[in-house]
Amino acid sequence: MANRDQALDRAWAVFDSGALRERLAELVAIPSTSQDPGHAADLQRYLDEGVVPWLEGMGFVCTVYPNPVAGFGPILLAERIEGEGLPTVWTYRHGDTVRGLEDQWRPGLDPWALTVEGDRWYGRGTADNKGQHVINLAALEAVLAERGGRLGFNVKLLLETSEERGSTGLREFVGAHRDALAASVLIASDGPRVTPEQPTIATGSRGTFHFDLVVDLRPGGVHSGHWGGVTTDPAVVLAHAIASICDRNGRILVPEWLPKGGMPNSVRGALGGCEFGGTGESATIDAGWGEPGLTAAEKVFGWTGFIVLAMVSGRPENPVNAVAPNARAHCQLRYTVDTDPATFEPGLRAHLDAHGFQNVTVAKAGIRMAASRTDPDNPWVRWAAESMTRSLDKKVQLVPNTSGGLPGDVFVDLLGVPLIWIPHSYNGCKQHGPDEHLLIAPAREAIGAFAGIWWDLGEPGTPAGM
Ligand SMILES: [Zn+2]
Repeated sequence: MANRDQALDRAWAVFDSGALRERLAELVAIPSTSQDPGHAADLQRYLDEGVVPWLEGMGFVCTVYPNPVAGFGPILLAERIEGEGLPTVWTYRHGDTVRGLEDQWRPGLDPWALTVEGDRWYGRGTADNKGQHVINLAALEAVLAERGGRLGFNVKLLLETSEERGSTGLREFVGAHRDALAASVLIASDGPRVTPEQPTIATGSRGTFHFDLVVDLRPGGVHSGHWGGVTTDPAVVLAHAIASICDRNGRILVPEWLPKGGMPNSVRGALGGCEFGGTGESATIDAGWGEPGLTAAEKVFGWTGFIVLAMVSGRPENPVNAVAPNARAHCQLRYTVDTDPATFEPGLRAHLDAHGFQNVTVAKAGIRMAASRTDPDNPWVRWAAESMTRSLDKKVQLVPNTSGGLPGDVFVDLLGVPLIWIPHSYNGCKQHGPDEHLLIAPAREAIGAFAGIWWDLGEPGTPAGM
């Protein structure tokens, strides 16, 4: 008799035998970065050779479509339909990665080869996102085997290859395939757990808003001896403008950027007692940084973050004796659905004017990824949390949105599905930098958790049948 415990054991056997690691190693070896035009063929190969044969072996019907926006990577749509009246889950993932940054990895590591070291699997995409979707699909395969070739539910899968370029084309694609994607719920994996040990469900994501601050005062640099001290220095003006936006301890001073009326009680409640950490050697959590009075979890899941991604005046690598003609910073806001991004730019402009910074221009302002959130009380969220708790015998931490960006807004807007993100990584994984890795212990938990979720989807009592 097929049963749930055996399904989980099958999944863990796939993990413990090394089979999952080997499959991930094959996929990591395809250098499918979307941030380097020289690797466009590898994006196609990731789908055609890396994923499609595996999915077809599980009975999925797969179609690879060109991206609706020219110059961006292809999108795979796969479905495995067992019958009408069964729950239909849809799952999203991305097969592209950021750049390899080959010359910056520690000696002995290579972004395009999976390297096992201690409690970690190193390689580009091990955490973001290849490792996460390989775990989920391997768990699906284990459940399929346990149930003798059927699942008891329908699966639709979308795998894009332009996520690391802002998911360009995804909204157009989902809009055009709305009917084909109709489903009860989105269940997918990306991003970090709140701590490496804590199974986590995120029901949305923070959005990203970008803008440039520009101080452009003259056509070229002027002699620093003849002009320094009498003509305005754009770098100094820019530094003061930034200081007016955010104090020296990282507190945001532009009211329009913050959750209106403060953090909602529902968010504060969901984050009560939420641990946040696991940064390892990559960064520290500085208690005095950011909004005073908030916990670290509240700051990253429930509040707005302001980050100066880059700033420059003159050429630091080759300075000359001149007052620079201009200074520029590229800035980012990470925001939740509790704010109104339409007020971000006018609020900033008014703030700069009120502080005497009329000569600071705001340029190229706009949303890159919109924020999204499903109510943590949604029946699907509770169902998923109960399933994971049963599989792992551990409390599951719910967070109202991930700290990073995900294209969940597209799915909420166009498909109206509840969002359940179940991350398998941690915030010290160095995704987007050199030495990206996946922690082995959370990955092993994850394959069991997903086997439980897939198993339970085929049982009576899902919210789809309520
Ligand atoms: Zn990423």
